[in-house]
Amino acid sequence: MTLVCDCKEIKQLKIEADMGADPIWCATCHYNFDLEDIDLSGSLKKDLFSWVNDYASWVDWTTETLIEGQEKIEMLHNERGEVLTKLVQQALDGQYKVLFSPSEMY
Ligand SMILES: [Zn+2]
Repeated sequence: MTLVCDCKEIKQLKIEADMGADPIWCATCHYNFDLEDIDLSGSLKKDLFSWVNDYASWVDWTTETLIEGQEKIEMLHNERGEVLTKLVQQALDGQYKVLFSPSEMY
């Protein structure tokens, strides 16, 4: 597997949820990789997609404000993100270091 971004050499990847983006990024230039290009098991990819789809479920998009009392949901989202980051790190062991960038809306 060879990933290509704007960097000469990719050393660190970052797991971060964002609207309408795949959850794996270059930690240096913030290039958004296509999850399909990354050597992960189908079930881990599925978990990553469902995790990113749950992102910002604590936001009321009609008013673009944080829903009161949903801090816990963001916290759980971040806990799940940390677990997924560890799984991705294990799957890509030796090739890349994988960091986690938590959501901090509240
Ligand atoms: Zn890069």
